[in-house]
Amino acid sequence: MFIENFKVESPNVKYSETEIQSVYNYETTELVHENRNGAYQWIIKPKSVKYEFKTNTHVPKLGVMLVGWGGNNGSTLTGGVIANREGISWATKDKIQQANYFGSLTQASAIRVGSYQGEEIYAPFKSLLPMVNPDDIVFGGWDISNMNLADAMGRAKVFDIDLQKQLRPYMESMVPLPGIYDPDFIAANQEERANNVIKGTKKEQVQQVIKDIKKFKAATKVDKVVVLWTANTERYSNLVVGLNDTTENLLAALDRNEAEISPSTLFAIACVTENVPFINGSPQNTFVPGLIDFAIQKNCLIGGDDFKSGQTKMKSVLVDFLVGAGIKPTSIVSYNHLGNNDGMNLSAPQTFRSKEISKSNVVDDMVNSNAILYEPGEHPDHVVVIKYVPYVADSKRAMDEYTSEIFMGGKNTIVLHNTCEDSLLAAPIILDLVLLAELSTRIQFKAEKEGKFHSFHPVATILSYLTKAPLVPPGTPVVNALSKQRAMLENIMRACVGLAPENNMILEYK
Ligand code: NAD
Repeated sequence: MFIENFKVESPNVKYSETEIQSVYNYETTELVHENRNGAYQWIIKPKSVKYEFKTNTHVPKLGVMLVGWGGNNGSTLTGGVIANREGISWATKDKIQQANYFGSLTQASAIRVGSYQGEEIYAPFKSLLPMVNPDDIVFGGWDISNMNLADAMGRAKVFDIDLQKQLRPYMESMVPLPGIYDPDFIAANQEERANNVIKGTKKEQVQQVIKDIKKFKAATKVDKVVVLWTANTERYSNLVVGLNDTTENLLAALDRNEAEISPSTLFAIACVTENVPFINGSPQNTFVPGLIDFAIQKNCLIGGDDFKSGQTKMKSVLVDFLVGAGIKPTSIVSYNHLGNNDGMNLSAPQTFRSKEISKSNVVDDMVNSNAILYEPGEHPDHVVVIKYVPYVADSKRAMDEYTSEIFMGGKNTIVLHNTCEDSLLAAPIILDLVLLAELSTRIQFKAEKEGKFHSFHPVATILSYLTKAPLVPPGTPVVNALSKQRAMLENIMRACVGLAPENNMILEYK
């Protein structure tokens, strides 16, 4: 059975007009490795830590500014939200299709809240805490191409033509602000597109972006802005001591107009300066150490990297399943071909390399979790190939071969073939990223020994379900397994309303 919403009644939760307060016992463990009676032994001590959470329930009017607004993802997301907001339906060759938010964790997935008269009861994920309704988001942003969003939607070739016709009037007047173009960071084949660029030094470009954000905020009267990079994949920036290793050095390098500061890092500097959350949906290392340091100093949310949309999402499910089942993946080979502008940009070796790096570490945590299968340092062969095939446009093909060792030296090979419009996978993920980023800035918490409430660490690991290469604060373990990432997010939200983590024990029926 499905219920639309609920309220928690418990001595541990207080709902007031402005916030939800909860007290939560975090059941964890403490590990000790010590000499007991002449031999080293691991001791695990269960431990309970009391936490308090405070969630501000005022849902702001949210503005989302996309860098790369006129790209396939930007135009698809904008059109998709307008179609939902306006209740648009359109004719396909199969049926009359209604706008929906399928593929969005927050808008289209459910959580189990308990059982009632022998039936499992589910509620929308979004009913856990007050969240911005995506229909109410005001969009804006930048692009190095000055094409309006209606034409950009046509160029993307993602939506059915009947839908495009209905969306056109809403999108024709949406024109991206000039972007920061630096041909050194993206493929040479993007040059033709770059007719809408901010001139001046890097510092002047950052100042312009800051002005743009302020102007957008004032013009749209939104309470909060989140900025998200969905522009072209850049090459990696070189990490250079004295240039981008600390906040001070990065800002000094900006003053010197150093060539090695990428456009995405410039956008991030602008956002952190203004305390505007910034999310990176592409694989490059926008968050150089100096930028991370800057975000920590300013307590400004940053999150990334690279949307986890198709192939990698499957990988972080399948490898988790295989290793969790005691099966040993030994070779994982992933081929992709796509024909959109992202594919064209990725056909240059330097930008492909960013994608290759971001896709490559995704099985590490699962492999490292099982020393029965893998010797220390042993790793499956893992190869990623991406080819540009214009004809398939945004309809990306992903082919994967997983070979594993099974019982008694047997081999098992699984082959997957996935065909899907790439932007229809990415758009709902962008939505979740901005909605969850906004929500997380309204949550404060403290452990029992901490005097003051504080926000989450500015490096937002809470978004890791949505990213291929989760950015984590220095010294934090990276979790790639999808089910763990989802459980982390759901359980933190449950904690905010005083609900225990979903333990799937269903003891009532045992
Ligand atoms: P796209 O090429 O259609 O869109 C990118 C847009 O960014 C273009 O309109 C381009 O003109 C603009 N742009 C480039 N540099 C810019 C800059 N410095 N400032 C402002 N605008 C700039 O690509 P897409 O398919 O929308 O994908 C966008 C990004 O998302 C890519 O980096 C891609 O790798 C990443 N991504 C996409 C998916 C997916 O499933 N679609 C998954 C993971 C990551």
